[in-house]
Amino acid sequence: MSADEKERLVAHIAAQADALAVLTSELVRIPTANPPGEDYEACARYIGNRLGARGFAVEYLRAEGAKGDSDTYPRTNVIARFEGDRPGPCVHFNSHTDVVAAGEGWTVDPFGGEIRDRRVYGRGTCDMKGGLAASIVAAEALLDCGVAFPGAIEISGTADEESGGYAGVAWLAARGYFSRPRVDHVIIPEPLYKDAVCLGHRGVWWAEVEVYGRIAHGSMPFLGVSAIRGMGAFIAKVENELYPRLAQRRTEMPVIPDGARQSTLNFNSLHGGLPEQKDTDGFPSALVADRCRIVLDRRYLMEEDEDEVRGEVVAILEGLKAERPEFDYALKELWSVPPTMTDTSSPLVRALDRNIEAVLGHPSRHVASPGTYDQKHVQRIGHLENCVAYGPGILELAHQPDEYIDIADMVASAQVMALTALDLLRGQP
Ligand SMILES: [Zn+2]
Repeated sequence: MSADEKERLVAHIAAQADALAVLTSELVRIPTANPPGEDYEACARYIGNRLGARGFAVEYLRAEGAKGDSDTYPRTNVIARFEGDRPGPCVHFNSHTDVVAAGEGWTVDPFGGEIRDRRVYGRGTCDMKGGLAASIVAAEALLDCGVAFPGAIEISGTADEESGGYAGVAWLAARGYFSRPRVDHVIIPEPLYKDAVCLGHRGVWWAEVEVYGRIAHGSMPFLGVSAIRGMGAFIAKVENELYPRLAQRRTEMPVIPDGARQSTLNFNSLHGGLPEQKDTDGFPSALVADRCRIVLDRRYLMEEDEDEVRGEVVAILEGLKAERPEFDYALKELWSVPPTMTDTSSPLVRALDRNIEAVLGHPSRHVASPGTYDQKHVQRIGHLENCVAYGPGILELAHQPDEYIDIADMVASAQVMALTALDLLRGQP
């Protein structure tokens, strides 16, 4: 790319700062809360209309039959594609359009898209409508500046990332939308800082442990077996034996924030005994709990494997069985995803590194995400290794009240995206 071309693109995007803020604000005002999956169709149409007007070929793809899809809450995805002047590779920017519920604690309207102090406020600004807007402005800049390129640029807005992406990227990937020969490089503008390339994420293993007891009258607990006491013993062992071990397992993966650079385990939920009756004035029956259930959210590292992760929980449960004659349990695995890391020598990572440095004036950082995102589906279902996250948001603001995106960060990342796309399309190593 000539220096002149580069300068023109960078200057053109800098001049789009206000338009970028307005685009983000308008996207935020479409309240695509998940659950239940509100207004996906409206959001997809907004993106499709905008890009369609610029000559992109627009496809709306409803994930019929996918979990969560219904006529009330259709899981509508949009993919817009712009063909270059001759055949070549395809660079795809993928953003999820869904946002988590607003929750409590806001001082601004979460779906108002307020623009103030060089920021845009609202649910989804950071995660990740600001990133989506940056990718749209980056692609439009290539057209506005009249730079010629081979291949194609795609921009997608996909459903349900916040609940696993099964009606979004997973559904599309199963239909070839995230595979060669259609697509060569995928950039996901999740909020992981304008100066960092996110190579991948830790693994996930979710499981439910149910401990069984034997029911009896609550006034004579010695006649039964309390499943809650059995669960208490399990939690104590995890606390005393497993947690210290996990804390020592540090990874070579560049996971941020630093606290996530090790194995972690979260007790997601816990329930024992009769169903909770907080909405009625019913008095619980006097019973010894015969069931107690806990959901485990285990995040694991490249240096571990899923068999080990499962094995150490099973070892604790089996140990308890040996120690406590009436201890009984069932383990149900809910879902899992292996850790993933894109090779730093891939052209995609190198192009981002080069252009982050060109735009920001300092070298890029390589990071990995503490949690998973749609990259897993691109790699596992689409079998496309060239996929990373790169976007302008500040990770810690995601899912928080008063979430915002900095307009200057969006401008900088849009500049990086435009230059990177052009390098990749032209095959610049
Ligand atoms: Zn996200």
